[in-house]
Amino acid sequence: MGFSSVKLQDNTYVANTYGRFDLCLVKGKNATATDINGKSYIDFGSGIGVNSLGYCNDAWAQAVCAQVQTLNHTSNLYYTLPGTQLAEKLCKKTGYEKVFFGNSGAEANEGMIKAARKYSSDKYSHRRSEIIVLQNSFHGRTITTLAATGQEVFHKNFTPLTAGFCYAVAGNLADVESKITPNTCAVMVEMIQGEGGVVALDKNFVQQLAALCAKNDILLLDDEVQTGMGRTGTLLACEQLGVKPNIVSLAKGLGGGLPIGAVLFDEKTKNTLGISDHGSTFGANPIVCAGAMVVADTLTDTFLAEVTAKSKHIFAAVGKMPHVKSVSGLGLMIGVEFEDVAGRDVVQKCMEKGVLFLTAKHKLRMLPPLTITLAEIEKGLAVLQEVLTEI
Ligand SMILES: *Cc1c(COP(=O)(O)O)cnc(C)c1O
Repeated sequence: MGFSSVKLQDNTYVANTYGRFDLCLVKGKNATATDINGKSYIDFGSGIGVNSLGYCNDAWAQAVCAQVQTLNHTSNLYYTLPGTQLAEKLCKKTGYEKVFFGNSGAEANEGMIKAARKYSSDKYSHRRSEIIVLQNSFHGRTITTLAATGQEVFHKNFTPLTAGFCYAVAGNLADVESKITPNTCAVMVEMIQGEGGVVALDKNFVQQLAALCAKNDILLLDDEVQTGMGRTGTLLACEQLGVKPNIVSLAKGLGGGLPIGAVLFDEKTKNTLGISDHGSTFGANPIVCAGAMVVADTLTDTFLAEVTAKSKHIFAAVGKMPHVKSVSGLGLMIGVEFEDVAGRDVVQKCMEKGVLFLTAKHKLRMLPPLTITLAEIEKGLAVLQEVLTEI
């Protein structure tokens, strides 16, 4: 089947929710993908930060295939080995106490929000249910996580959204403070706003926010769906900002290419959700957890130091390229802002030359696999340099 017939079939039968590029990928290895015509691409997007170990990593594929042939799924009525072992591994590596497994970022955030409300409902009253979120945030596309998303454009046409969310200016502690009421149960943030344009929160702001929350027994909720699992050069981005939020959500990079979400609970919140308070049919699926186990095992200190080294190399190289106004982000989560060209146009031209980048607002965004090789980085950056020189 040629590209144009795939496109026609997709446009006919798949709901029109995605503005796709004219590209159909059929296979890949590490950061290199191949399209339906056999042309190869260096992929700096990794399926939006999902393929943390690249396409079809050998150890990951072996673990997943072995589990496929052993126990594909049971239910959360019974104990299983992969989910249990992954939970212990995540707790030991992150310093959190307990884990709840779901299937996506939005679902992880829903779990985090439910837990925050339950914490206050148990301890204070069910009226203590309000959550302060930040403007320009992105927390998902369900009706509740849309309410948590501080960007009007996503709300349009879908109101009424879940009540109980209010929006403070990111980086402005006084504004957050002014929004606290006796009914505030939590403040929810991304350490680096990803979809909002790869904008990192200021370290002082985050530390003061954590102290403000602790003082008032308001929970600090940390959406690390995009920043977590080594993406920023540490297991969690909050480590670099010097805070330990009460609850952390994970998803994108956790499964190495299979759908999984997780909610990590600290000492204070580990017993907040009890029997029947929450659940997920597919949560802790053994195949998915077997893949995630390989991802978690791969993220050693040495591996993370390499992520940081690759990051430094990309920041330095891109900072010197024509039209580049600023380079933002942390680790291998990088936003590039141009002076006078649109990110999307640069991304389109790079794709034509065999390199895939993402966008975030007006910026070009990079979320390459953490395993991207220096050779792949060089090839990709050479094309970016060439496009920016010609444009
Ligand atoms: C992608 C993302 C989500 C939503 O994840 P889904 O798996 O698409 O539901 C939530 N929060 C952040 C920070 C994200 O980057």
